[in-house]
Amino acid sequence: MFKAILKLNLTTQIFIAMILGIIAGAAIGDPVLTVANPLADLFLRLLKMVIVPLIITSIVSGVTGVGGAASLGRMGLKTLGYYVTTSLLAILTGQFLVNLIQPGVGADLGLHQQPQAVDASDQSLFGILLRMIPTNPIESMANADILPIIFFCILFGIFLIQLSEKKRAPLVNLFNSGFEVMMKLTRFVIAFAPLGIFGLIARIVATTGFEPFKSLGLYFITVLVALLIHAAITLPLLLRFIGKLSPVKFVKAMSPALLTAFSTSSSSATLPLTMECAEDRAGISNKTTSFVLPLGATINMDGTALYECVAVIFIAQAYGITLTFPQQAMVAITALLASIGAAGIPMAGLVMMTIVLKAVGLPLEGIGLILAVDRLLDMCRTTVNVWSDSCGTAIIAKSEGETGVLKG
Ligand code: ASP
Repeated sequence: MFKAILKLNLTTQIFIAMILGIIAGAAIGDPVLTVANPLADLFLRLLKMVIVPLIITSIVSGVTGVGGAASLGRMGLKTLGYYVTTSLLAILTGQFLVNLIQPGVGADLGLHQQPQAVDASDQSLFGILLRMIPTNPIESMANADILPIIFFCILFGIFLIQLSEKKRAPLVNLFNSGFEVMMKLTRFVIAFAPLGIFGLIARIVATTGFEPFKSLGLYFITVLVALLIHAAITLPLLLRFIGKLSPVKFVKAMSPALLTAFSTSSSSATLPLTMECAEDRAGISNKTTSFVLPLGATINMDGTALYECVAVIFIAQAYGITLTFPQQAMVAITALLASIGAAGIPMAGLVMMTIVLKAVGLPLEGIGLILAVDRLLDMCRTTVNVWSDSCGTAIIAKSEGETGVLKG
C-alpha cells in the first residue's frame, strides 16, 4: 500500500495526505499532535532552510541571465504592471461583494474580544519603502528579511553584468551553479511535502473549532466567494486571453505549490515549490521565474489585498459606521499598500490591516472581531497569492516570447 502511494504523482500524494490529515485531526483530536507537530515542523524547517540561498542564487543568476539593463527594465515594468492590476482587480471584487452582501450589518459579535495576538505596529508607506533597503545585507539574509535581500541581489546582479567578461564569468558561473544546487535541494525537500502537509492539516483540524463560524459565517463566505471569483474567473481569463495558455493545464502544473500554500499559509515558505513547479512542470524559463516569483511572493498578494478590503468594510459595518465613497476609495488604496507591505508569512495580512483601519479612522480593536476565523482565511488567501504569482510568471514569460510554457 505504502509503495503504491509512493508511485503516485506528487499532486495525488498531497491530496491523499490532506484527506488523511483531515480524518486524523477530526477523529483523534489533540493526541494527533504528537505525530502531526514533528512532521509539520520538519517540513516547514526544511522549506525555510532553502528560501534564503534559493532567492539569492536565483535572483542573481536570473538578473544576469536577462541580459542588459533594457530587458531588465522592460521585465520589471511588466511585472509591476501585472502585480498592481491584478491586486486592484482583486480589491474591486472584494469591495463589490462586501457592499452587496453586507455581512457586518447586524452581526452579533459581542464587540468585546481583545486583539492581544496582534501587534498593531505602525506602518506607513514611506516606512514600507524604506525597509526595502537593507542597512546591512548580511543581517537581512540572517533574518530572512526577503524584500531587502531581493533589493540587494537585483542591484548586485545589475552591477555584475557591467564587469568585463573575464571578471564577470567566475561569479556568474558560481551563482548559476549555486542556483542549480538549490533547485536540486528543493526537489529533495519537496519529497517530504505529503508527510509535512499531512502534519499541517491534521494539526489545524485538531486545534480549530467550528464555534466562531456561527457569528462570522457570512463574513467568511463573503471573503471566500470573492477569492474564488478572482482565482477561478479573473486570473484564468487573463491567462487565457493575454497569456494564450490553458488555465486547466496550468493549474495542474502548479497544484503541488498551491496545495502547499494552502497548508502552510506562507507564500515565502511555498516559494521553493512555486519555483520548482513553474520551471519543471510548467516549462517556464529560470530567467523569468527567478525574477518574477521571489518578488511576487513578497509583494504581489491579491488574496491578501482582497481580504484586507472585505475585512475592514466588514468591521465598519459591524460598528455601524457607513463609509463614504472617498473612504471606500481610501480603503482600496491602503489595502493595496498593506498587501505589498505584508510579508509572506502566516497572519501577516492581519497585522498589516492596522494601516487600512487607521486610514479611515476605524478602531484598531476591530481586528479582534475577525481573529477567530483568520486562520482558515489565511490558508485560502495565501493560495490565491501564490496562484496570482504563478499566473503572472506564465503571462510574462509568454510576453517575452518563451515558447516552452506548458509544452512538456
Ligand atoms: N499568509 C499570507 C501569505 O503568506 C499573507 C497574509 O497573511 O495575508 O501570502
